Amino acid sequence: MRPAPRNPEMHVSFFAEGEPAGVLTTEPLGKTLDYLAPAGGCALGAFVEVPLGPRRVLGVVWGEADGRFPREKLRAMARVLDAAPMREEMREFLIRAADYTLTPMPSMLRLATRSPGLGDPPSMRTVYRLGDRAPDRMTEAREKVIAVLEDFGEAAFTLGELAEMAGVSAGVVKGLVAQGAVREEASPRDVPYPPLSPGRAEVALTEEQAAAVGVLTEAVASGAYGTTLLKGVTGSGKTEVYLEAVAECLRGGRQALVLLPEIALTAEFLARVERRFGARPAEWHSGITMTERRRCWRMVGEGGAQLVVGARSALFLPFRELGLIVVDEEHDTSYKQEDGVLYNARDMAVLRASICGAQVVLASATPSLESWANAEAGKYRRLDLTARFGEAVMPEMRAIDMRVESLPATRWISDTLARAVRARVEAGEQALLFLNRRGYAPVTLCRACGHQIGCDHCDARMVEHRFLKRLVCHQCGETKPMPEKCPACGVEGRLAPVGPGVERLAEEVAALFPEARVKVLSSDLFGSARALKAEIEAIAAGEADIIIGTQIVAKGHNFPLLTLVGVIDADLGLQGSDLRAAERTFQLMRQVAGRAGRREKPGLALLQTYQPEHPVIRAILSGEEEAFWRAEAEERRHAGVPPYGRMAGIVLSSPDVQAVFDVGSAMARRAEPLRRIGAEVYGPAPAPIARIRGRHRVRLLVKAAKGAPIQGALAEWIAQFKLPANLRLAVDIDPQSFY
Ligand code: ADP
Ligand code: ZN
Repeated sequence: MRPAPRNPEMHVSFFAEGEPAGVLTTEPLGKTLDYLAPAGGCALGAFVEVPLGPRRVLGVVWGEADGRFPREKLRAMARVLDAAPMREEMREFLIRAADYTLTPMPSMLRLATRSPGLGDPPSMRTVYRLGDRAPDRMTEAREKVIAVLEDFGEAAFTLGELAEMAGVSAGVVKGLVAQGAVREEASPRDVPYPPLSPGRAEVALTEEQAAAVGVLTEAVASGAYGTTLLKGVTGSGKTEVYLEAVAECLRGGRQALVLLPEIALTAEFLARVERRFGARPAEWHSGITMTERRRCWRMVGEGGAQLVVGARSALFLPFRELGLIVVDEEHDTSYKQEDGVLYNARDMAVLRASICGAQVVLASATPSLESWANAEAGKYRRLDLTARFGEAVMPEMRAIDMRVESLPATRWISDTLARAVRARVEAGEQALLFLNRRGYAPVTLCRACGHQIGCDHCDARMVEHRFLKRLVCHQCGETKPMPEKCPACGVEGRLAPVGPGVERLAEEVAALFPEARVKVLSSDLFGSARALKAEIEAIAAGEADIIIGTQIVAKGHNFPLLTLVGVIDADLGLQGSDLRAAERTFQLMRQVAGRAGRREKPGLALLQTYQPEHPVIRAILSGEEEAFWRAEAEERRHAGVPPYGRMAGIVLSSPDVQAVFDVGSAMARRAEPLRRIGAEVYGPAPAPIARIRGRHRVRLLVKAAKGAPIQGALAEWIAQFKLPANLRLAVDIDPQSFY
């Protein structure tokens, strides 16, 4: 990564009233604008509101005025917001993240200001505390209220909380207020989170765990930057270990951040944090309310939040003294933001930590090849937890050779797999059937004319969802009712589903095991994260015999009764041209298999495959992970692709198909800035999905050597072209998926 372009003039840290200063706004203007400091002046980094045309917009005092605009014409900032100014290290982080991802600064600032009502005065709520007078008449109910308040010393409660804790009606509390025995006051809503107590680990760590904890706590205590890959099979105690690193960070008075890939998982995790540290941490993800979001943002900035558990965007919270970032399941693809700003939270965590002197822990059972290679190269420390905790052992893995199973075309569960499932169900254990395909059938085909029903706006087939009774486009979300007649030939009653989705698999399971209790886990079947969580808990409690799931089941859930995993189509991820196909398949299969036998009972994973001798399938079965990674690394090194080369994807999109190809061809022709750094340009070619939401998509791929200064060259290259108004250009550095 390039060092931050530091402005040597940036020594001013305060602008007195009437002095000009440069303000970065969240408006897409690309540069800072000059304004005069308002009454009372403003600090460097202050959040301000500034006039822009007829509007007022949010900004940050970014540095000295650039002076190009005559001072007499400058407008004054409207006001300084009541929020802690952005710290220097955060500005540096945003600048360097923008440079790396080629994102305009205003978009970066938007990421860093995703708190509603940032400029509003703190909202208030009514709270109740112990008053200084005794009530004139004491009742049993009143005594209970006073006892609660005395127990908690200075603490203040809302009316509802206090009444509930005392087990009385709100009227009782109000009666005490009238008497002066309880004080009613207004208090800011954004209160600090309850303090966490680092304490001691509640479990006796194994030797291997203790050694890992020792290394991590020492690293955290050093106060310097460093990244550790914490690799351990599912259930080996990675969480247990990194929570000790969090404890050390809290002991040192610094803040910690734990990133999780899937918000549906946070409830289980929050409960675990609460058990370990005595209180709940702050949460940051799309599932929290506006009020919580605002409180979290403010308290992180003011030091009233010691630990944040969140999704990738939590990286842009205004931490005051961040000491540790944990990226759990670091290989997870959801860490790569795929709309708006294209950043990989794992890489940005490392960047942020390196700027503020924090430690990073990347935890995974199946690390990304990038992290594995960084550890091999000695850039990251590596800690291994090799054994599952307690009795649990890794499941045995076997292939089912589908070529010899001779299954009819409308069945997907082989006899071998069905027998294994039956044995588990009869023994009172659970079996999981894994198929990474939502819906009923991936293709709907007309048996009269061969037409496949596609989306009107995308080059994608519509997927039948029987549960919703509709066809759904998984690209754009468009839905339509299942037609009676073929939209192409008009023949009635000949439309047929082709291939399985989880809903169709559920039908087969119901036919094969009519007496079994079956649950389907697929993200689209649940209206809310809460409903999904309830279902997961029901399964963990044993309320199902057979679970059918998409990849959401692969992620860290604990199903103690689960002893068999059947992978319906282990070959699915091996198709396609994605350079990470092998890595993804390997990770997913091992994660899914890791669901089996988490307690005392040994697990078995059966993989249905038509190509059991495929190197990836063989590596999965043999469990020789290091051999797999080494082979995969060798192939990528040979091809000069990440992590042994640099890549950037450019996607041009427009409703006008001619325009995207014209611009794409012009870009390919005039690639001098890229050639100068030895980079190659491929394309333009139609993107794998050539049309999404009515926009035609064309893609160029840039490949360069590992050390090449690709960002600067890309910026120079792109700046040569004037793009038509309706044409969008998106740059994706280190693209993760090709669509
Ligand atoms: P991972 O994060 O690697 O999947 P966890 O930290 O969740 O592993 O550990 C798996 C289970 O084993 C958890 O229920 C955890 O509490 C338990 N566990 C791990 N290490 C110990 C230990 N040393 N003593 C007691 N329980 C442990
Ligand atoms: Zn569509």
